[in-house]
Amino acid sequence: MNIMLFGAPGAGKGTQAKYIIEKYGIPQISTGDILRAAVKEGTPMGLEAKACMEAGKLVSDEIIIGIIKDRLAKDDCKKGFILDGFPRTIAQAEALEALMKEMNIKLDKVISLNVPDELIVGRVVGRRVCKDCGASFHVEFNPPKVEGVCDFCGGELVQRKDDSAETVGKRLNEYHAQTAPLFDFYMERGILADIDGTKEIDEITKEIFNILG
Ligand code: AMP
Repeated sequence: MNIMLFGAPGAGKGTQAKYIIEKYGIPQISTGDILRAAVKEGTPMGLEAKACMEAGKLVSDEIIIGIIKDRLAKDDCKKGFILDGFPRTIAQAEALEALMKEMNIKLDKVISLNVPDELIVGRVVGRRVCKDCGASFHVEFNPPKVEGVCDFCGGELVQRKDDSAETVGKRLNEYHAQTAPLFDFYMERGILADIDGTKEIDEITKEIFNILG
């Protein structure tokens, strides 16, 4: 099963991805996590992406499409995958369609998590992420069992540099200008499921499991 999670920053894509992994045993492909790892390692790609990420802007389609091409070719994607944070532009979505056609696979479902802008800032600024596995928590709405420690792998929880009140506004602008049009793109293809992302986390997980079957 090939799934894409769609929504604004802080809509809950990463949080739900972890539950989908647990149930369906398919890997999560987060372009944000891959980029952050490249920045940490100081690779040429990381160096190129760093400034855009810190400014809350999108990284070039060329870099992102290259990442996805390499990642989807890996063996663990054969049984399916969860795209998280990709595609984010129409050009990326078109490149993905072309790539999947070449690979003789298709996107089965796009799960859209709908959260109004006024809730996003609080969600993003309170977010804490695991340094090791990338799992997301929230200091108030989704605290870990032990403060500062990941429930999934025991890794240390940290705040992302771009999860500041200042940068989140810019990321939301990018989302509305470049990413939001993908809602209609996938609706037209008949594979989009629109979910109210303001519900409780476990209610949303249940809805997603019902949709995925
Ligand atoms: P995320 O972890 O998904 O919130 O992504 C963090 C940052 O990485 C974004 O603000 C962008 O700068 C960059 N990024 C991640 N995925 C993409 C993508 N598909 N296209 C362009 N930039 C991306």
